[in-house]
Amino acid sequence: MMSQGLVIMSYVIASILFILSLSGLSHQETARRGNYFGMLGMSIAIVATLFSDAVDSYIVLIIALGVGGFIGTKAALKVEMTQMPELVALMHSLVGMAAVLVGYVSFMDSSNGLEDVERTIHEVEIYIGIFIGAVTFSGSVIAFAKLCGKLDGKPILLPGRHWLNLGLFVVTFWLGGVFLEATESGGGTIPLLLMTLIALAFGVHMVMAIGGADMPVVVSMLNSYSGWAAAATGFMLGNDLLIVTGALVGSSGAILSYIMCKAMNRHFLSVIAGGFGTSGGEAAKVEGDVNSIENDETVRLLSEAKNIMIIPGYGMAVAQAQHTVNEITKLLREKGKTVRFGIHPVAGRMPGHMNVLLAEAKVPYDIVFEMDEINEDFANVDVSIVIGANDIVNPSALDDPDSPIAGMPVLECWKSTTTIVLKRSMATGYAGVGNPLFIHKNTRMLFGDANDSMQGILKTLNS
Ligand code: NDP
Repeated sequence: MMSQGLVIMSYVIASILFILSLSGLSHQETARRGNYFGMLGMSIAIVATLFSDAVDSYIVLIIALGVGGFIGTKAALKVEMTQMPELVALMHSLVGMAAVLVGYVSFMDSSNGLEDVERTIHEVEIYIGIFIGAVTFSGSVIAFAKLCGKLDGKPILLPGRHWLNLGLFVVTFWLGGVFLEATESGGGTIPLLLMTLIALAFGVHMVMAIGGADMPVVVSMLNSYSGWAAAATGFMLGNDLLIVTGALVGSSGAILSYIMCKAMNRHFLSVIAGGFGTSGGEAAKVEGDVNSIENDETVRLLSEAKNIMIIPGYGMAVAQAQHTVNEITKLLREKGKTVRFGIHPVAGRMPGHMNVLLAEAKVPYDIVFEMDEINEDFANVDVSIVIGANDIVNPSALDDPDSPIAGMPVLECWKSTTTIVLKRSMATGYAGVGNPLFIHKNTRMLFGDANDSMQGILKTLNS
């Protein structure tokens, strides 16, 4: 057993390591270090908790650690990069579920010896903890289903949904009062169960109403909720480290949601209220001639170009083309060409998705730019190569006020001399919106799997 002082000391060290981890994760160059800090912090936290006097049944603990560790390791080893967002959503749902379960156990546990005000505070913690946990759980399950295509990604709107949400909130508050009163006389189970059902319905309704290109905000918002759910669990268990860690995740998730909203030119509250992009009229119809090209022509255009911009999107992740893209980038740079990458903040299916793929393929960080850094520069670009991206290069976001993605800043690649788009068909992207870029006079479509096309280009460049 560790002394209480040593446990507190370990928790403080773990908290500091988590803060260092977050700061490391904010830059690509330091992200690896950030991960190590996080792993070290979590190891210290687990060991300190294991040897604290809070544990009285090692057998249950070891079985739980074994089962959880086994499932987690298996999932992490098996998951494809394209399934990462779904996995993250699923993980958030587990944090939510844990908060609900801990809440119920704390409620049923009469051995805490709390009296009067302390007892009331504890019951308020339980009520709020279960509420946040249940919203996080059901919301994350719906987000998971939307991200992996088991549910339609479009917003589903109930009539009078704002009133419905407001009504659910009012009932939750009222039930909170009933719960506190009932616990005085040893009851409270019914209002707690009713509130849990309402919270579950609320999570489903909230995430159902958000969709299309606004999904990134849902992912980061649920990340934030899962942090608050963990913090609530910390309050219920009286565990300071869980409170600190939960607050760190909760606030960093909230900041990320804000950044994503800014990147998409949306107001946070409007996204949360849901239904974005459904009130406009018909989205742009894309009708016109498509200019398709083959690998040889692509290589000729690249050979003549001096300034090249690569724009990766979700399709690059699907095709796993990042390594071939890196090989081509190396070759072109050896030939004296300027090659840069333009990254849209919501490219792919999770924040930072493209950066992770490019880092995995060892693309140098100094040629990878954020949208804001390079969007003004497209007029000087000879060839833009769009690899499996669609919504993030859709000009209708800027010039069609009726478009579901109207107002979202996009990478303005059509301003370059030629744009080559690699995709398999004329299909729409995640937001389900037609893209006039594909029929633009300067655009050439290179149809096929992005990795196959890239391999073909690499072969020709090498010959
Ligand atoms: P999109 O989903 O808009 O487009 C991806 C394109 O890739 C598709 O049109 C598809 O066309 C093509 N594609 C798929 N597989 C392949 C393949 N093997 N080879 C070549 N092309 C392929 O992706 P973007 O990255 O442009 O935009 C991201 C979208 O996802 C935005 O709407 C964003 O809001 C949303 N989103 C983002 C999240 C985030 O956090 N980043 C989270 C959730 C949603 P085709 O089928 O013709 O090949």
